[in-house]
Amino acid sequence: MRYPLTVRNLLERSRTMFAHKEIVSRMPTGVVRHTYGQYYGRVSQLAHALTDLGVGRGDRVATFAWNHHRHLEAYFAVPCMGAVLHTVNIRLPAEHIIHILNHAEDKVLLVDEDLLPAILPLRDQFKTVEQIIVMADHPLTAENVVDYETLISGRPTTFAWPEDIDEWEPAGMCYTSATTGNPKAVLYAHRAIFLHSMLLCMADTLGLSESDTVLPVVPMFHVNAWGLPFAAVWMGTKQVLPGARPHPADIAQLLQDEKVTITAGVPTVWLGLLQVLEKGDYDLSALRAIACGGSAVPRALAEAYRKKLGLPILHAYGMTEAAPLTHVARLKSHLTILPPDAQQDIYDKQGLLVPGLEMKILDQAGNEVPWDGKTFGEVVMRGPWIAAEYYKDDRSSDTFYDGWYHTGDIGIVDQEGYLKLVDRAKDVIKSGGEWISSVDLENAIMAFPGVAEAAVIACPHTVWDERPLACVVPKADAKGALHKEAILEFLRNRFPHYWVPDDAVFLDELPKTGTGKFDKKVLRGKFQGHYMAG
Ligand code: ADP
Repeated sequence: MRYPLTVRNLLERSRTMFAHKEIVSRMPTGVVRHTYGQYYGRVSQLAHALTDLGVGRGDRVATFAWNHHRHLEAYFAVPCMGAVLHTVNIRLPAEHIIHILNHAEDKVLLVDEDLLPAILPLRDQFKTVEQIIVMADHPLTAENVVDYETLISGRPTTFAWPEDIDEWEPAGMCYTSATTGNPKAVLYAHRAIFLHSMLLCMADTLGLSESDTVLPVVPMFHVNAWGLPFAAVWMGTKQVLPGARPHPADIAQLLQDEKVTITAGVPTVWLGLLQVLEKGDYDLSALRAIACGGSAVPRALAEAYRKKLGLPILHAYGMTEAAPLTHVARLKSHLTILPPDAQQDIYDKQGLLVPGLEMKILDQAGNEVPWDGKTFGEVVMRGPWIAAEYYKDDRSSDTFYDGWYHTGDIGIVDQEGYLKLVDRAKDVIKSGGEWISSVDLENAIMAFPGVAEAAVIACPHTVWDERPLACVVPKADAKGALHKEAILEFLRNRFPHYWVPDDAVFLDELPKTGTGKFDKKVLRGKFQGHYMAG
C-alpha cells in the first residue's frame, strides 16, 4: 500500500489517543484551556466554515496572528482540508504584507483582533482576499469582516477530511527575508511537515514527547514556530501558547505555572527572560530544554542559563528553506568526559546535522572543503524537508542549484562533524582581503561585564575596504560606566590584532528584524560613513 505522509495523520492521533490533553493559551481575558478533544471539534468547525467560504483544494489561507489556540486550529483545518496555510509575519512592513498576500494569492485572511488596525488600511490593495475573519473573543460589528467564533459556532464537530491528498501537495507556506527586494516564499509539502515533525521527536534532536509540555515563544508566523505545534499535536504534547505581545515576565510565569518542560525561541528572547529571572524568584524546575536558534547563541547567555537553571541552552540551527531544523548541538557520548569549558565550546556550535539531511561545505570555487575544524566555506544542504526552489520567484536559481540548497551561511566543520557558523555571507567583514567573523567578536563582547547586546558590522574603509565596528548596548545598570577602550582592549587579548574593531559605539538598543534578530542591514546603513568621515 502506498500510504501518503499527510498532516491528517497528525491530527487524528491527538483526537483518538490524547483527547484529554491540554492546549493552554494566554489570552487578553486570561489563560484559556482546551482539550485536544475540543480542539478537534473546533478544527472541524473551522474547516466547515472555510469550505462554505469557498476555500478548496490548493487555495491559500493566510493567518496574521500571535501564538494561541485559534491560530493552532487554522494550522490543521487548512492543510487537512487540502488548502495551504500561509502564516504571515506580523512584523513585516506594510509594503511587504501587501506584496506577499498578493503573491501568495491568499483567498481568506484570519487576523487577530488587536492586529486588525495593521490590516484594514491595506485591504483595498489585497487583490485576491475575499474574506477577512477576525479571531476575536467576542462578536464584532466591524464592516466587511466576520468574527471567528460566530463563524464556526454550531457547525459539525467532525469533517470528512479528503483522503486522496498526495504527500507532495503543499500544506503550508512561509516567506523569508531577502537581502534586497521582496521576501521569498517557501512551500512546505505535507510530507515535509510529516517528516520534520518526526524529526523533532527524535531523542538526538529535541526529543519532543507526550510527557513534555511545550511553550513555543518563537512565533507561529516564524517558520511555523519551528514546526513545534505540528509535532506537539501529533504526540499529544500539552501546549502552552503565550498569546499577544508576551513580556519576559509573562513567559516566566507560564513556564512556572504550567510546568513547561521544553521551550523555544531566538536568543533575544532568552536575553530578556534572563533579566527577569535574575530579579524574580520563579520555580522552573520542570524545564528540561531551552531550544535556541535563529541566530548564534552568545556563550555568555548559555553560561548564564547554565548557572541560573543548571541547563545548557540547546543550540539549534535552521532556516525557512528547511522547515526549519537542520542542526542541533548535542554532546556525543564520548565527549561527555570533557571538562565543562570544552563541553561549552561544543554547545556554542550550531551542532550536528540531523538525520535525514546531507551537507557539504564549499569554497568560493564550489569545491568541497575538508572537515578539519579550520577551513571556512558555504554550508549547502539537501534532504526531504529542504525546499527545491522559492515559490514563483526568479531568484530561485541563485540559491538552489546543482541539486543543493546554498544557505549563504559561512561555516567550519570539525572532525567530529560539528558545524560552527562564522557568519552569514552578507554579514562577513572583509578587511584587507581577510575574513573576520562578526559572530566571534559579538560573542566575546557580550561576555564583557555590563554589556547587554552587541553587533559587529562591516564599515567601508579607504585602506582596508572594510573594518569592523562594534555596536554595543550597555545593561541598564552599566550605562555610563562602560568604556569603549576597555572593551577593545579585552578583544585585543583574544583576537588577532586586525580582527579588533577600530571603534565601538554605544546605543540604547539594537534594531531587530521581524524575526527578532539583530538587524545589521540597518546598522550598516546608519554607520556607513563611520570610518570615511574625516
Ligand atoms: P530570516 O532570514 O528572515 O531571519 P530565517 O529564520 O529563515 O529567516 O533565517 C535563517 C538564517 O538564520 C540562517 O540561514 C542563519 O543565517 C541564521 N541562523 C539560524 N539559526 C542560527 C544559529 N543557531 N546560529 C547562527 N545563525 C543562525
